[in-house]
Formats: sequence, C-alpha cells, structure tokens
Amino acid sequence: MTAKLIDGKARAARLRGDVREAVSALKAAHGLMPGLAVVLVGEDPASQVYVANKVRQTEECGMRSIEHRLDETTTEDALLELVARLNADPDVDGILVQMPLPAHIDTDRIVLAIDPAKDVDGLHPTNAGRIVLGRPGLVPCTPKGCVLLAREAMGDLSGVNAVVLGRSILVGKPVALLLQNENCTVTMAHSRSRDVAALCRQADLLVAAVGRPEMVRGDWIRPGATVIDVGINRIAAPERGEGKTRLVGDVAFEEASQVAGAITPVPGGVGPMTIACLLANTVQAACARRGIEAPTL
Ligand code: NAP
Repeated sequence: MTAKLIDGKARAARLRGDVREAVSALKAAHGLMPGLAVVLVGEDPASQVYVANKVRQTEECGMRSIEHRLDETTTEDALLELVARLNADPDVDGILVQMPLPAHIDTDRIVLAIDPAKDVDGLHPTNAGRIVLGRPGLVPCTPKGCVLLAREAMGDLSGVNAVVLGRSILVGKPVALLLQNENCTVTMAHSRSRDVAALCRQADLLVAAVGRPEMVRGDWIRPGATVIDVGINRIAAPERGEGKTRLVGDVAFEEASQVAGAITPVPGGVGPMTIACLLANTVQAACARRGIEAPTL
C-alpha cells in the first residue's frame, strides 16, 4: 500500500482563505478588524522567523498585526506590564508571547497573566480547562491543526480508535482531549508505556508527538491507518554534503507510507497548520469578546 499524502500546506492555505473571508465579512457587517499582538523577547533566530511569518500572514488575512520586540534583558515585571497593557487594549483581540522566553523569565507567570479571552495560543489554564470540560474556548494551535488534518483524511472521527504518542502539555495532552471531544476512543502512550509498538498497532489514527527522529517504524502501523506526524527533528544528512542537515518527523516516513492509508509529510504536514490555526483563533477571540457569532473555521 502507498499512503495518500495529507497535504498540510494546502489545508493551511484553505484555512487562511477562510480566515480572510471571515475577516472581510466582519469588516463589512460590524466594522471590525481583528488585531493580533505578537511579543518577542530576545534574538532567538528560530523565534525571529516564526514571528516574521506570523506578522506577514496576519496582515495577508486582512487583520491588524501589533508587534512588540523586546530586548533579551527585559525583566519579568516589564513583560508583565506589557501583557497587562495588551489585555486592556480594546484593539487587541489576541496576544501571543513567543516561546521560549529567556531563562530569567517565569513562563508560567506570563501565561497566567494573559487574559484567557485573548489567549490565542490556548495555553492559559482556563482554556485548557474548557477543553477538559468539552466547552468552547481557545484551543492550542498545533493540536487544533492535528485534528483538522485527521478530519481531512478520515472525515467524521466518531468511534475512531486513536493512539496519541506523547503526553506533553503543548501537544500530546490537548490532542488526546480534542480527539475525545471528537468522540474518538483514545489511548495515550508515553515514555513509561509498555510495548509502545503494540499500542500503536491498534490505532486507526496515530498521532506521533515524541520529538524522537523516526521512532515510529513501518511495522508499528496498522495497515490503512491514518498517521499524523507532529515531530520536527533536525538530523545530520551527510549524503547532502559535509555538515548538512535535514528535517524528519517522529515517524519513519518511507516505511510508514508503505503501510498507512494516509500520512502527513515532514515538513509540509502539521507544521504549516499551526500559524493558520492561530489566525483562526484570533478571529474567534475577536467575535467572542464582542458577542458576535463566530464563523466556523
Ligand atoms: P516533549 O515536551 O519533549 O514531549 C515528548 C513526549 O514524548 C513526552 O510525553 C514523552 O513521555 C514522550 N516520549 C519521549 N520518548 C518516548 C518514548 N521512547 N516512548 C514513548 N513516549 C516517549 O515534546 P513536544 O513539545 O510534545 O513535541 C513533540 C514533537 O513535536 C517535537 O519534535 C516538536 O519539535 C514537535 N512540535 C511541532 C510543532 C509544529 O509542528 N508546529 C509544534 C510543537 C511541537 P514522558 O511524558 O513520559 O516524558
């Protein structure tokens, strides 16, 4: 079997198109232009690239982008002060503080300070609690992207046997909860699980989020299963020349695509969904704060 490729780039482009349409409808009907504030502390090169992409895509969707670039030496109190100002600013609908923060800043304190109604990254405990309760709220972007891609490949997920490999706060746990809310039967596996390969083989839908290059082998996959690979791992690629590297997922793609029914590539799978979901969350937050019914995105 050769698996169907789940094209995250195309799905993300479609979602951005839906966001653009929703923004122009909100402008026409309510004179509303959703605004996303992105805060970057320090000079981390990967974070600089992420923030530049977020700013560009926010503007391309017709939304207001508010950028705050702060020095590496910014104190925790100064950052808390900025978050408080953004919370109070009526033009700001979403606040994203780019992680990782410098080591002298307590990330939990910053996340807790963000108004849950503007927490478009879905990291505040209030929003995490809403997922647990199965109530509407702002959902973390990468997990939301995983669910959209699973739906893309499988349609209705009700009754599907899902296995989530990894239980991090950022990915594994929210993915498992969101899949439960989609009426999947969910098994979570982690570093203390026994016979992870056998657990994975039970999955109609396997989501791998372990951060271990190509850990999931072809014979861990049930024939015809859908595989969502969240992992982004940079490994040495001497075949491309000295010192060269390449990106791989947590799934051994070549092997897995011989067995799976559908699979996300790395790159080009889950990765592109994250920013698109952030933009969708910003529209949702803008509507919820004003009591306007949010479009389904
Ligand atoms: P993480 O915080 O390091 O969590 C890894 C999880 O995998 C943990 O729950 C750990 O179990 C589990 N694990 C580790 N080794 C295992 C093993 N041998 N067997 C079974 N479980 C094992 O990582 P993360 O933040 O969830 O990220 C996971 C991957 O997704 C990374 O490659 C990351 O780069 C990628 N990622 C991609 C995006 C995106 O596409 N936009 C966003 C976020 C993350 P324990 O809990 O028992 O330690």
